[in-house]
Amino acid sequence: MRIVVKVGTSTLTYPTGHLNLRRVESLCRVLSDLKNAGHEIVLVSSGSIGMGVGKLSLPARPTDIPTKQAAAAVGQCELMYTYDRLFSEYRHTVAQILLTGSDFDHADRCFNFQNTVRRLLELGALPVVNENDTVATDEIVIGDNDTLGSIVAVNVGADLLILLSDIDGLYDADPHKDPSARLISVVPEVDERILALGGESGSALGTGGMQTKLFAARRATAAGIDMVIANGADPEKLYDIVEGKPIGTRFLKKAGKEA
Ligand code: GLU
Repeated sequence: MRIVVKVGTSTLTYPTGHLNLRRVESLCRVLSDLKNAGHEIVLVSSGSIGMGVGKLSLPARPTDIPTKQAAAAVGQCELMYTYDRLFSEYRHTVAQILLTGSDFDHADRCFNFQNTVRRLLELGALPVVNENDTVATDEIVIGDNDTLGSIVAVNVGADLLILLSDIDGLYDADPHKDPSARLISVVPEVDERILALGGESGSALGTGGMQTKLFAARRATAAGIDMVIANGADPEKLYDIVEGKPIGTRFLKKAGKEA
């Protein structure tokens, strides 16, 4: 299977902006193992701004564009250094790909991206994708990695998109406010009723929330790709997700659609 895994800042770092080592090590080990088992993995990783906050000892996630872009420039190095080091331990080679929204508006750039990923996968490498936060301005920004993950999944012809987050999946009510909220394990169709469940959320260091995840689900499933939202706290759960076991919320690809 060709699998796109998106990890959010809240999965990778503590609220301080420093790396959650135990979790990142586990994530890299499991992804390496899935690669060893024959799956092709593309990782869409957030964390550049969050890790830049930690590395530059900023008091909080910046709100102004220059500091955000500076933090991203610092944090992206740290992020790739970490992945390179950890995946190397399992003999896997990472490749960095940084994209902006406008890359997907230009057919030639989009085609180049598809070709590069295809070649990297043929060469056995593990592409790690993020938004190019140091140059992304309002006009060209994708803005969140749930959206980026779904765009990447469609462009690389993935079989499965997995969004790892700090929430277990989609609930029928806001679990932070309503203790009787129940997890929805399968969504056969991302319709208006489902989209209406995407309230606002998000952590102090990351962006996104349920709404961006539901839009990502709509894009992926329409293109013939199953999508799962699951809690990234235990990366070992990826084994079960790949085997199709009921973890988190699975959005089923549109019938008759193949990626
Ligand atoms: N590209 C941003 C970063 O790496 C993250 C976007 C997101 O959290 O969705 O910090």
